[in-house]
This record gives sequence, structure tokens and C-alpha cells, in this order.
Amino acid sequence: MAGPGTTADPGGILVAGAGLSGAVIARCLAEAGLRVQVVEARDHVAGNCHTERDPETGVMVHRYGPHIFHTEKAPVWDFVNRFARFMPYRHRVRTTVGGEVYALPVNLGTINQFFRRAMRPDEARAFVAGLTETGDGPPRNFEEQALAMIGADLYRAFFKSYTEKQWGTPPALLPAAILKRLPLRFSYDDSYFSHRFQGIPEQGYTAMVTAMLDHPGITLQLGRALRREDTAGAEQVFWSGPLDGWFGHRLGRLGYRTLDFEHFTATGDWQGCPVMNYGDPEVPWTRITEHKHFAPWEEHAATFCSRETSRACGPDDIPYYPIRLVREKALLADYLALAGAERGVTFVGRLGSYRYLDMDQCIEEAMEVARRYLEARRQGRPLPAFVHSPV
Ligand code: UDP
Repeated sequence: MAGPGTTADPGGILVAGAGLSGAVIARCLAEAGLRVQVVEARDHVAGNCHTERDPETGVMVHRYGPHIFHTEKAPVWDFVNRFARFMPYRHRVRTTVGGEVYALPVNLGTINQFFRRAMRPDEARAFVAGLTETGDGPPRNFEEQALAMIGADLYRAFFKSYTEKQWGTPPALLPAAILKRLPLRFSYDDSYFSHRFQGIPEQGYTAMVTAMLDHPGITLQLGRALRREDTAGAEQVFWSGPLDGWFGHRLGRLGYRTLDFEHFTATGDWQGCPVMNYGDPEVPWTRITEHKHFAPWEEHAATFCSRETSRACGPDDIPYYPIRLVREKALLADYLALAGAERGVTFVGRLGSYRYLDMDQCIEEAMEVARRYLEARRQGRPLPAFVHSPV
């Protein structure tokens, strides 16, 4: 294994980052017979889906915030099930607004409770249609998308302030795609995700990623932040770190939101659900996670919770959510122009391609990147800097 400061294994494959993207690429290439060196800056694998047991309570903690695996894609589901036993889990979220607790995503129960009504599905559908506001053409931003979907009252209660806290910007400046992540239902189905396959690894995500990296063709080095100059000599680099980090941030920093967690323990069941959102502007945090509810098959007398707040990401903070507003998109375009001139490096994953990706999308894309690389290699062609466009 390479020591600190040494360069890449000559002729081998170098993967920067042992999160989902890096681990999946490493595994797929190692299974195809290639030698893969994975270098990770943190002292653990699994990136932001890292889980570890809290020694005091015994609860499995999602260290970087809640991660629930859900997908519609059978090949992705089959892939992850090779490395972990997935336990059945349906994610449910509540939100506290104006002194009341409602179910999310907005569903028939939420609507009836909010408007103090007892409407049936078709009545509620017609009622909400009467509240919506559509401009000319498709919604251009988060706020227009919300007004077109649920109208002003529901938007103000459940989305406006939460989104301002989460993104630090008026929702009218955010892309509509962020809201499109959430469904609107005219039934009492309060499952947060609609996907067919859903679950949580019995021993956590870190155990799953450790199993992916456990292959004779893979070497893993933790606690080493790789720089571009360390990668000389590698046959190919897969960079899952921040795109601007590869270039030493020389054009400036791409904007991210980072998260702060204030952890606390208690006895029993603190909030009765895994995630409680807080939609009111007076409450500084966006949500509280009670981790033991992610493992309903375990029993714990004590409980471990995390209050989550969001703020602009500084140079020494962990980047979570790419902001992708106008300034960032212009800077992204400049970095893409630089990346286009690189040879032998492909940028992957949430940080490498500066996109808000779910876990299943990361895995699907990483499998595709590995496939495309093997094909290009067979044909003696280079792999482009991006297999999935960040634009
Ligand atoms: N959102 C909101 N209120 C909520 C939950 C979500 O306004 O109670 C908005 C918010 O802008 C968030 C987006 O919907 O960024 C997507 O929510 P999701 O639960 O997918 O966010 P994640 O869990 O990825 O942070």
C-alpha cells in the first residue's frame, strides 16, 4: 500500500474518495481484473452515508444526517444487496408547524388537518387545484413550482421557511427541481418515498461500503487527502472529491451548504419518529433526527438525536448540498472548460459533478462509469472527463 505523499501505483487505477461512487467504481473495476488503489481523506469509508454505533446508547448513528436507501432500479438494488443485508424500512417524516404536527409529504391527511376539513380524494384534488397559481409557461423556480403545485397557504406553512433555512436563499432563486423531489398525494399514504425498493443495511452503510472495498484487487488508504499532483502515473483517475478541489480552487470555490449537528441523548423515545422537520422561521434548526428509528429491528433503552442546522460552507467545512444558483453555474461552466482539457481523469459523484444526487443515482452512475471505462479501455479510447453531464 502507498504511504503518505507517495504517488499513484504506476499503471493502476486510482480512485479518490471511498464514498459510494468511489467504492462502486473500485469494486466493478477490481471484479473485471484491474488493480485499484482507493485513497480517502477521512478516517472512514462511506462518505456522507457513514454510520457508526454510539458507544453510550448503542444506537447506529447516521453521522452526516439521515440516509435512507430507496430506488426503482432493480440492478442497483441487486448490487447493494450483494454487500449488505437490507432490512425492510419505510421512511416517514413529520413536520412541526404553528404548534401542530403534520405528516409529509403533503398528503390527504396533511391537507385535511391544515384546512380543518374532512375531504375525500377528489374533493381535495379540486380544492387544491383552486388554490394553485400558475404563470405563463412551466414553473421557473422553486417558489413558482410550489405555487403551481399546492398554492400559497400550504407553500408558506411547509416549504417557504424550511427552504430558506436549508438553502439560505429565497426560494424564488432556487431551481424547481429541488421541490420536484417531493410528491403530493391525495391519499393517506404518508410514506416519504414511493420507490419499490427501500431499506436500511442491517449493520449500517459503512459495513456495506467496507464489504464493497473488500476485494484482493483493491487497496485502501484512509486519512490521506489526495491532490492532483499525487496522481501522476496512474492509468486512470476517478475523482469523487470536489471538482474545484482538483484544480486547487484556482477559479474560486463552488458554493455548497454545510450542516451542523447538535447531538443529544435521552431515554426512551424522544420524538416518536425518525425525522421531525421544523417549518417555522423562528426555530433555527431544519430538522431533528432520532437515529434509532432507522433500525426498528433493534431495541435500545436510550436514544440518540441530532438537531440539524444549515449554513454556507466555508473552506474547512464538509460540503453537503451543491447550491447551483446563477453564480455557481457560471463558475461551474468555467471549471467544466478546464476539465474538458484534462486527460486521464473522470469526475464522478455528487462532489465531482456538483449535483444533488440520491444514493441510488450515485450507484447507478458509478456502475455505468465503470462499464464505460472498461469498454473504452478495450477499444483503446480515453474516457471523457464526465460520463454524466453536470450541467
Ligand atoms: N422541503 C421543505 N420542507 C420540508 C421538507 C423539504 O421545504 O419539510 C424542501 C426543502 O427545500 C428541501 C427539498 O424540499 O431541500 C427537498 O427535500 P428532501 O427531503 O428531499 O431533502 P433532503 O432530505 O435531501 O435534505
